[in-house]
Amino acid sequence: MAFRLTERIRALPPYLFIELDKLKNEAVARGVDVINLGIGDPDHPTPRLIIDALAAAAAVTENHRYPLGAGQIEFRREVARYYERVHGVGLDPATEIIALIGSKEGIGHFPLAFVDPGDVVLVPDPGYPVYRAATLFAGGELYAMPLLKGNGYLPDLDAIPDAVFARVKLMFLNYPNNPTAAMATRDFFEQAIFKARKHGFIILHDAAYLDITYGGVKALSFLEIPGAREVGIELHSLSKTFNMTGWRIGFAAGNSELVQGLLTVKTNLDSGVFNAIQYAGVAAMRHYDQLLPGIVKVYESRQRTLMTGLRELGWPSFEAPHATFYVWAPTRGGRSSMETTRNLIDMCGIVATPGIGLGAAGEGFVRFALTTDEKRIELACRRMKQAGV
Ligand SMILES: *Cc1c(COP(=O)(O)O)cnc(C)c1O
Repeated sequence: MAFRLTERIRALPPYLFIELDKLKNEAVARGVDVINLGIGDPDHPTPRLIIDALAAAAAVTENHRYPLGAGQIEFRREVARYYERVHGVGLDPATEIIALIGSKEGIGHFPLAFVDPGDVVLVPDPGYPVYRAATLFAGGELYAMPLLKGNGYLPDLDAIPDAVFARVKLMFLNYPNNPTAAMATRDFFEQAIFKARKHGFIILHDAAYLDITYGGVKALSFLEIPGAREVGIELHSLSKTFNMTGWRIGFAAGNSELVQGLLTVKTNLDSGVFNAIQYAGVAAMRHYDQLLPGIVKVYESRQRTLMTGLRELGWPSFEAPHATFYVWAPTRGGRSSMETTRNLIDMCGIVATPGIGLGAAGEGFVRFALTTDEKRIELACRRMKQAGV
């Protein structure tokens, strides 16, 4: 029997990383020692004290039962303390914070609560592919907001016609940004909130890299901006901050109606995060000041190594990032991002992400993820030099 996938699945663009993996596997099969600067997945292990907290909590039998849908109050209180301490934002853990099975889960589910078929959803282009998938699954209509270099990789909100805004239900934003590593200005967030109030739409700010900043800069939480909580929700995660991508724990915070709407979808589809992982999350957040500097320093140093290498190659110059673990580099000699990525794999054994795979406006760029150790990044630079890529 042939089973026909739904229109919503068929409408999805091909999942970029599967294609990249295929190209990579072909290189591995040829015996190439592949350097993976493709997917952004921290290579360092989760800090020991978090693993120990998990082990201890896993032995507590009460934790073996179904977790509370919204998450343990201890975890939500710890999130509230983080917002208070780090961002000066006061949140009520009872109504304004819930635990997520990673922020990807929250992004995926959110439109099911607030987007009806035919509603327009504004998505950054290039951007994390889940915004598009989540919109399509909810029956929403995509409207791309190009992130251009000339505009600091911030969407030009004045370029969006009022007729479009009139149909917008939800806007996705993500700063510090994957893939461009750009940071939002206070001004930009204020402008976005102004538009959201004027046209009555929701802002979901994906803050997965909020803590990954270096070089003396600090990123703004969307919730720090006056008025944000009237229109918005912020999703954050322990994945990138504490090298915990495999653990699947994140949280949503902000407007209580939006948080509770997302929770309604979740309680109907999942049963929350394993309690022991939530207690490990509590330990992680409590040791934020102790753990974070070491984690961030690694990316800062790798970034410097890659930027130096690219400069020596005569790669077109561009501003060094201060956030995330990505370097968003314009391609050389007007080559397409696909051609550049293919050359990098075939001639240098380097996996990078073609900008086009993250959206049409990503053409002309490749993304390097700094989730490989420094020696390998140096080796990558040497290979590029030898191959003249
Ligand atoms: C990694 C990432 C996420 C998802 O992280 P989780 O592991 O699901 O918490 C969300 N948004 C962006 C932009 C990311 O890069």
